[in-house]
This record gives sequence, structure tokens and C-alpha cells, in this order.
Amino acid sequence: MENKFRFYNTLTREVETVIPNEDGKIGMYTCGPTVYHYAHIGNLRSYIMEDILEKSLRYVGYEVKRVMNITDVGHLSSDADTGEDKMLKGAKREHKTVMEIAKFYTDAFFADCAKLNIKTPDVVEPATNCIPEFIHMVEVLLEKGFAYTAGGNVYFDTSKLDDYYVFSSQSEKELLVGVREDVEEDANKRNKNDFVLWFTKSKFEDQALKWESPWGVGYPGWHIECSCISMKHLGEYMDIHCGGVDNIFPHHTNEIAQSESYLGHKWCNYWFHVNHLNDKSGKMSKSKGDFLTVSLLEEKGYDPIVYRMFCLQSHYRKPLEFSYEVLDNVSAAYTKLVKRIAELKKSADAAGEVQKERFDAYRERFADALSGDLNTSMAVTILYDILKDDLNAATKLALFADFDRVLSLNLLTAGETAADDGVDAELEQFILAKIEERKAAKKEKDFARADAIRDELLAKGIALKDTREGVVWSLV
Ligand code: AMP
Ligand code: ZN
Repeated sequence: MENKFRFYNTLTREVETVIPNEDGKIGMYTCGPTVYHYAHIGNLRSYIMEDILEKSLRYVGYEVKRVMNITDVGHLSSDADTGEDKMLKGAKREHKTVMEIAKFYTDAFFADCAKLNIKTPDVVEPATNCIPEFIHMVEVLLEKGFAYTAGGNVYFDTSKLDDYYVFSSQSEKELLVGVREDVEEDANKRNKNDFVLWFTKSKFEDQALKWESPWGVGYPGWHIECSCISMKHLGEYMDIHCGGVDNIFPHHTNEIAQSESYLGHKWCNYWFHVNHLNDKSGKMSKSKGDFLTVSLLEEKGYDPIVYRMFCLQSHYRKPLEFSYEVLDNVSAAYTKLVKRIAELKKSADAAGEVQKERFDAYRERFADALSGDLNTSMAVTILYDILKDDLNAATKLALFADFDRVLSLNLLTAGETAADDGVDAELEQFILAKIEERKAAKKEKDFARADAIRDELLAKGIALKDTREGVVWSLV
């Protein structure tokens, strides 16, 4: 297999060709949701683009094993280990237990993903499943001298690393993509960026989830969960790690610090980060309370897949501003697109032979667009090029079916409702047979016969139209 799949690696700051550790197999890890509230459509932009990445890799021939955690403990309201546990905040808000909250919002997350055609990763692991693994990693980090205990908590000592800011030559200030919410000084930390591996001295007396550990009863820090869960399922060498840009610092920076200190070697080669979806007032945030969800879009009458198409039309590395005006435009374009595809299905040569060479040429163009740093808007443009082309309907339909393995826009089914005409299969067969008969008459230059067939159908309320894609029929 020729390997030319490229995307922007945040670690090297370059668009690079993906070379997996194991030939043909890619280990991919995604930071999962913090399940204390519904996912907002910004979170889901990240998951849509990560889904496209996974499906594109499969499309060009890689085998992918994708792992995702569910953050159900340890993520505090500030990414810098201060503030309240987000899960506890959710439980208090809804007068439920933390585990009830986790279950409810995990289910809600996957329901949203299903509506957006986001594939569930091969492995999904809640953090609370892996406490022994976290404790083991913290023990090793202490043994190796990369961690210390202070005030009852265990901290990672960032001063032990030559290069803590692996992602950037930029200043720390530039790395903070608006992640710190309630910054408080933690007097136990030896260095400003040291982070908690294990909390025992909880500031929160009412911390719901606690476990025995060598350092006392407590709970894990947020960063440790992604290091452990990825290693548990993908081993010591990982190919691609994904997340939103806000995860670059401190979360992914800390993951690398602790993972590579624990392993003693390089851990993950490629880092894929999706830029934020913003609303007019700025970054979307669950803690703001009032935020955009998939359900809200549905209540307003949008098909969730329209939001997926909205995301695909811009590049994942650019910030994207949400607006209903643009969503309306995308919705209109989507309806038109799937209707045209539904019409193609009714054209006489829909069941004909696929034009193999031309099919392959389009397939290559599509793979090139995806392999060129995931150029999804180009991939969508190719759909329109296919519609305009003089390919037969069978080839067009085969291409849409093939591309939809990645785009997942329901290209072949969504138009059916729009074009549903209540015509039964028998009548449809009759119409198609008549169309074929008319085609044959035309070929023999028997135009009187061709016109008579058209009139015969018109008398039954069926109109024929000669289009670039062949003859299309509709009810009058
Ligand atoms: P969380 O549930 O807060 O842990 O976030 C889940 C995922 O959404 C992470 O990969 C975040 O980096 C990502 N994310 C958070 N906010 C946004 C946003 N406004 N746009 C895109 N992705 C986001
Ligand atoms: Zn993570």
C-alpha cells in the first residue's frame, strides 16, 4: 500500500506522513467526554473530525484500533488542578449521585454521537474502571523520582524534565487556550506547573468517589487516566492521540510528561488537535450553563447530520464560528444534494454497470483530499463534481456510497423521505421498463414511438425529464 496519508502533527508543527509503529496498524486514542453534562456541539465538532480521521485512515487501507476514555472522576473545574470536581458539581446540580450522573451523561453522549454518525471507538473505558492501573503508574513515577508527595497529595515534578513544553517553543501564556477557570495557588507544588497524580488531601470533604491507595484514601488526577487507559489497550507505543486544542496544555503536555517518564522512551508519535467551535460570544463552555446541544438543534427542526456537514465544510485546524444563518444554508444545500442523489436512484441506468476507471479516478481524488491534512471541504466539493459529471448513474451512486463510508452523511438514504412519492415497486418497475423502451425507440430514431411512451406515462401522472444523469421521472 502506498503510504501518503498526511496530517498536521502538533508535536513537530508540520504536516507529516503517518508511519505507524506496526505496519498497517494504527493505535489511536481519543480523550473522551467529561460526563457531568450534555456534550455541546463544540465538543462534538472535535468528535466528528476525529471520526473522519479514523474513517479516512481505514478508507486508505489502515487497520485502526481506537480507544477512548470516559472521564467520570478527577477532572476539576480548572484544568490546573483547582476548583471543584466537575462530576461532583453535576451531581449537586441535579441532586443525584456521581455515578448516576456519569451513567446518564455517558448514555446521552453516545446517543448524540449516533445521531451524528460518529462511530463508537473499539474500546471505551471509564476512568473509574482503572484505579489499580493509575495507582501502579503513580508508584513507578515516585520510585523513579519523577513524583513527590506534599500535603497528602502526590505531584508530578516538572523540574525533572529537560523539555516539559514539548508542544511548543511558544511561551506558556500562548499555550493556555482559555482553559483556566478558577486559578488558585497550591502551596504544596514545588514548581508552578507540577500537577496532581493522586489526591488524598481532598479540599472537598464531600468528594463522592474515593479509593484506598498507598498514600491514603483518595482519587486520581485527570491526566493520569488517559496515559493509563491508552497504555492498557494500545501498549507502550501509540500512533495517534487526539483531542481539542484546549487539551494541548496542560492535559496532553502532562500526559506526555508522565507517560514518557514512566516508560523511559517516546510514547506517541502524532498529535491531532481540532480547533474550537465558538459562538458569537466566544468559546463554548459547558460550565456557562446555557449551551448548544444536538437536542436543541433537533428541537429547532435541524437534522443533526446537517451539523456534521456544517463541520465538514471547514478545516479542522481553523476556529469555526457557529451561526444559524450558515446552518440554514448548509441545510438547504444538504436537502438539495440528497434529493438529487435520490433522483439518480430512480434513473434508468441506476442499476447499470459501474464505469470502473472513472470510479477509481474519483476515488483517488477523494483519498488525496483526505490524505492532504484532512481536507474535508474539498471532499464535499468532489460530491458536486460527480453530480455535474457525465458519468452514468450507477457510477455516481457507487461513488456516493463509497465516500459515505468516511463522510457519513446518509447520502444514499436521506433523500428517500424527501423524494418519497408513495409509488409501489410494481409501478416503479413499469415506469423503468417504459423508460428503457423509450430509450430503445430513440436509438432506432423512432421518435413518434418515444413521444407516445412519454405521453402514455404522462396520462398516468408520470413526467419524464432528460437530464445529464439520464432520464429521471417524477409524479405530476
Ligand atoms: P470535555 O467533555 O470538556 O472533556 O471535552 C471533550 C472534548 O471536546 C475535548 O477533546 C475538548 O478538547 C473538546 N472541546 C471542548 N470545547 C470545544 C469547543 N468549543 N470546540 C471544539 N472542541 C471542544
Ligand atoms: Zn485525555
